[in-house]
Amino acid sequence: PVNIFWFRRDLRLTDNAGLYHALKQGLPVIPLFIFDTHILDKLPDKNDARVTFIHHALAEMNEELTRFSSSLCVKYGKPEEVWQELTAEFDIREVIANTDYEPYATEREDKVRKVLGKNKIPLTTYKDQVIFEKDEVVKDDGKPYTVFTPYKRKWLATLNPELHLKAYPVTKYAKNFYAHTSWELPSLKQIGFEKSDLELPGKTYRDVIEDYHRTRDFPSVEGTSRIGAHLRFGTLSIRKVTLDAWEAREKTWLNELVWRDFYAMILWHFPETATAAFRKNFDNIRWRNHEAEFEAWCEGKTGYPLVDAGMRQLNETGWMHNRIRMVTASFLAKHLLIDWRWGEAYFARRLIDYDMASNVGGWQWAAGSGNDAVPYFRVFNPQLQQERFDPEMKYIRRWVPEFHDPFKYPKPIVDHREARERVLKEFKRAFAG
Ligand code: FAD
Repeated sequence: PVNIFWFRRDLRLTDNAGLYHALKQGLPVIPLFIFDTHILDKLPDKNDARVTFIHHALAEMNEELTRFSSSLCVKYGKPEEVWQELTAEFDIREVIANTDYEPYATEREDKVRKVLGKNKIPLTTYKDQVIFEKDEVVKDDGKPYTVFTPYKRKWLATLNPELHLKAYPVTKYAKNFYAHTSWELPSLKQIGFEKSDLELPGKTYRDVIEDYHRTRDFPSVEGTSRIGAHLRFGTLSIRKVTLDAWEAREKTWLNELVWRDFYAMILWHFPETATAAFRKNFDNIRWRNHEAEFEAWCEGKTGYPLVDAGMRQLNETGWMHNRIRMVTASFLAKHLLIDWRWGEAYFARRLIDYDMASNVGGWQWAAGSGNDAVPYFRVFNPQLQQERFDPEMKYIRRWVPEFHDPFKYPKPIVDHREARERVLKEFKRAFAG
């Protein structure tokens, strides 16, 4: 008999809650990863950087596993079918995984539970992806917080670093990995993908923590950590990262990690907000959804240099600075009056650190439809944002070098003042109705 540990968004062998518990039980543990075709088949880009990122992480784990005379069992297909096959192949006692809170993951798990249930195999999940999950930080009456500041206060009051940030010493039980070294990791090509040429983000963050509160708002400075993708895929442990922020007493950076928990909690309690506005009357808005303008926004050709710089940074690197995510998102929803969901989907396609909870949260925040959003009447002025956050135009020059050349650079596709009036009028109408 064996136990199986199913890797999903936790692609690491150190400080991994579920993996630790799986190994600790004593039965041989098969480390499993499934390339889920329900997800892969929907990706439009065959050189998707996230697939390369995952493949790279799997190769690293495989390498580490050789130390324990083991290797990853990697499958490709629809998880419910793969599990059907696995139950025939092995005498499985228990399946262990870390909880994934996204709506699709929950749906997938329900299907897999059914398959396993038929074979009387339990599926046990552990918290690993966040510091506090689900109902762990809620209001005194048990209801979820929908506003960040009181949530953060409660989050901080609940945190006991020795308890909540303690690492799970996986290697202590590493002898229990299933001894099998001949499983092969399929190549990217074998799963229908190509290697992305984007640079994958590194794992270091300590050097930015200290100055973060001073530098984080300036897009031309390398003042943020860029570890989003590592938190997304679990190649870094959120406990370790949070502990480092805690010990460095870098409140501003810790605050951002709390936002991450907050949005994960919101999506778990309100999964419908992945596609519907948190504020109900926001769905009355008559979006213009002008296709050519959307195209111009995607390509970084709106004639607003700060917006265009952000979109080009995203297109060329798979990452965009947070301040500019806010500016570009606000510009799409407010200046162009294009449905925030179009923008959310575009970011989802391009961001290496794409995470549904934070992306939807960020978009609803910028559009003004979110639970704790910018007031609808606040319309970011890209010109003023540039003067404050890119005063020497270093960032703009880096991404839009032709911005001052009228022969090469387009005129603004909308006039700021007119766009502002238009959106305020429409939002007011929608909210009155
Ligand atoms: P740092 O500033 O170094 O922060 C460290 C970590 O904290 C980040 O990696 C991230 O995990 C977390 N974090 C930071 N800011 C936020 C935030 N506002 N909300 C939630 N978590 C945060 N973040 C994503 O991880 N995935 C997304 O798909 C995503 N989409 C966004 C879309 C919009 C419109 C906006 C306004 C923000 C979005 N964010 C998203 C939040 C934020 O912009 C990114 O987390 C951050 O820019 C990533 O860069 P970094 O890793 O250098 O972060």
